[in-house]
Amino acid sequence: MTAASTLVETRPKSTSAGAVASPEVPLGRIQVAVTLLILLGPFVGVIAAAISLLGRFPTILDIVLAVVFYAITGHGVTAGYHRLFAHRSFHATRTVKIVLALAGSLAFEGAVIGWVANHRRHHAYTDRIGDPHSPHLGAGRPWSQLRGALHAHIGWLLQGQSTDVKRWAPDLASDPDLVLIDRLFPFLCIVSLGGPTLIGWAVTGTASGALGAFIWAGLVRVFVLQHATFAVNSACHMWGSRPFTTRTSDRATNFAPLAVFSMGENWHNLHHSLPRSARHGVDRGQLDSTARLIRLLELGGLISDVHWPSPETLDARRVSESGLHALAGQTIDFRERT
Ligand SMILES: [Zn+2]
Ligand SMILES: [Zn+2]
Repeated sequence: MTAASTLVETRPKSTSAGAVASPEVPLGRIQVAVTLLILLGPFVGVIAAAISLLGRFPTILDIVLAVVFYAITGHGVTAGYHRLFAHRSFHATRTVKIVLALAGSLAFEGAVIGWVANHRRHHAYTDRIGDPHSPHLGAGRPWSQLRGALHAHIGWLLQGQSTDVKRWAPDLASDPDLVLIDRLFPFLCIVSLGGPTLIGWAVTGTASGALGAFIWAGLVRVFVLQHATFAVNSACHMWGSRPFTTRTSDRATNFAPLAVFSMGENWHNLHHSLPRSARHGVDRGQLDSTARLIRLLELGGLISDVHWPSPETLDARRVSESGLHALAGQTIDFRERT
């Protein structure tokens, strides 16, 4: 079995006893505690920011630092974690690979290998049993839509389940660079908050300058980016348009309001239709800053083998006028399709 074929999962594997093997593995108590810390820390920061607003507004420096750190860490997730590591939308040199993995690790969204394993499982089981964060698995129950949205947005992170990285991300688990960066994740979280704090202190020379940068460019920046990413899991499977064909169960949508904050990941229906495409915002006016970054890296000779979708490929994936909206029984290979 090739490395690529091990990543193409369309149904749970059966055990020797005939039972269906769970795609999930239990999460340890320490991992649950760390997840809570990662989620609650930025939330506390937002409360602190709201309180500090009573005293003073964020300075220009706070805002500039927040935007710069948001762009670096956000694109680390979108171009690195997602389009490079999860879907192999392009080939990167070792330096670019390491830079993107480090940048994504600063985003407080988990270490790279586990993130990719969860995401590949999401594509393999989209909106079916086995999908770690579908909003559609509680249909028929009271408040099912709200419960589904909350589960997809944040609840799934707190359920004490994880994804087997050896099964879902064997290519990353055997890459020594990524294994090291994965282990450095707690340290990189400290760097992510300490970086803007140090810069704030160095530029202003005051403790309040350091504190302002810590709150706005650290905690609030992390909070906003986390929820932009979470909204791709929730809103982009519930609201918006579906101009491209997907599998029957797949409910991924294009949800325009998230374009800036998600850096193009909101064109999620196209992404689920053509998972390996380096560009998600393929139509006129669809902002996709991640695709622009990938194009810049390609022009600079830093990456190669970029999977840009051709007009013919896009046309073949569009929903037909007859209303065909899904290809029943189709197997999605989230790495191989271009
Ligand atoms: Zn999705
Ligand atoms: Zn994806």
